[in-house]
Amino acid sequence: MGLFSKNKSKTPLSGESAHTRSEKERLYLQVIPILLQYMKSFTFDLKEINADAFKEQLTALAALFENEEDIQRMGRHFEANKSEISEFIDKEKNYFVNKEFELKDIITILSTGLSTVNSQNQRFNALIHEETLKLEDITKLDDIRKIKEELTLKIDTLKKSIQKKQSQDAEHLEILSSKVETLKVELEETKSASMTDGLTGAFNRLALDTKLIKLVKENKRSFSLLMLDIDNFKLINDSYGHQVGDRVLVALVQKCQNLIREGDYFARYGGEEFMIVLPATSLKNALKKAELLCSKIAETEYAVDEKNGTKPLSFTVSIGASSRQRGDTLESLTARTDRALYEAKHRGKNQVVSEKEID
Ligand code: GH3
Ligand code: MG
Ligand code: MG
Repeated sequence: MGLFSKNKSKTPLSGESAHTRSEKERLYLQVIPILLQYMKSFTFDLKEINADAFKEQLTALAALFENEEDIQRMGRHFEANKSEISEFIDKEKNYFVNKEFELKDIITILSTGLSTVNSQNQRFNALIHEETLKLEDITKLDDIRKIKEELTLKIDTLKKSIQKKQSQDAEHLEILSSKVETLKVELEETKSASMTDGLTGAFNRLALDTKLIKLVKENKRSFSLLMLDIDNFKLINDSYGHQVGDRVLVALVQKCQNLIREGDYFARYGGEEFMIVLPATSLKNALKKAELLCSKIAETEYAVDEKNGTKPLSFTVSIGASSRQRGDTLESLTARTDRALYEAKHRGKNQVVSEKEID
């Protein structure tokens, strides 16, 4: 543009030789406008540090140099502008140092934010995608500080949404766990109800068969089985009524439960017939237990309707006893026990018969 292109000054600066001075002056006059031009070019267009005003100042200074003939006045013009020029250079330098810090902050904010986001589950993908689009918009903002503020805000929003979701998840999980617990209890109750006889509370036929099938299959120590049937139960029903018959069944179960061990398994086989599984018990010990049951049941008297002068009720049982043999199936074992019970009935009831006593 030719602003600094002319060299008009010929005035010497100090006591140097005329030739040297004029050479130097010419050189200065050539170099100074170029340097001022470079300074203008190297100044960033930053509104925050008033770059426009600084550039105007450089233009004005260049004009002064162009129009000034007196080299000493030129020196004074420069002196007058010197401090403002160096102030601007400092300002620009500080500006970039600050921006560098802010950029580092942004990187930290972004990486922390993204790592938080990354650790969340799939259901948030859609939301995160949406927020990412918004983040892209933010980067279009001109001012780096505004970018930082917006990013901080956005990441805060994201974090809050994620925290909200986490607490909702925890709440759902708690509700689900308590539902699972309730279901477990209900399942246990149903399971136990499906295994229990409604009248007496003893295990039912289904539970007994399940237990026996398992035991027969197992290759553990042998177990024994007692089959117990109330003698003349039909007569009890007929004499005292069906309700009393029911109470007799309940009383018998309670009596037997009190006389057997904890690991023994007492079940209602059907009607007035019961089975007792005695795990890890020899036939000899099973017979002892059967004798005890037989005599204890027979010696017990039950009050029925004392007010109306009804006599106490007593009843007896017959018991067949067996123990698991090699090659036994559920059917072969129960058939042998049943035959022993039949033999006890045949021999006159109120007694125990071992499988050994039958063919
Ligand atoms: P035995 O000495 O030969 O066993 O004769 P019993 O009378 O005991 O045998 P029987 O098979 O002739 O009769 C069984 C009776 O048990 C018939 C049935 O009505 C009665 N009974 C079966 N289940 C129940 C019940 O749950 N409650 C009552 N009260 N009676 C029942
Ligand atoms: Mg009977
Ligand atoms: Mg019977």
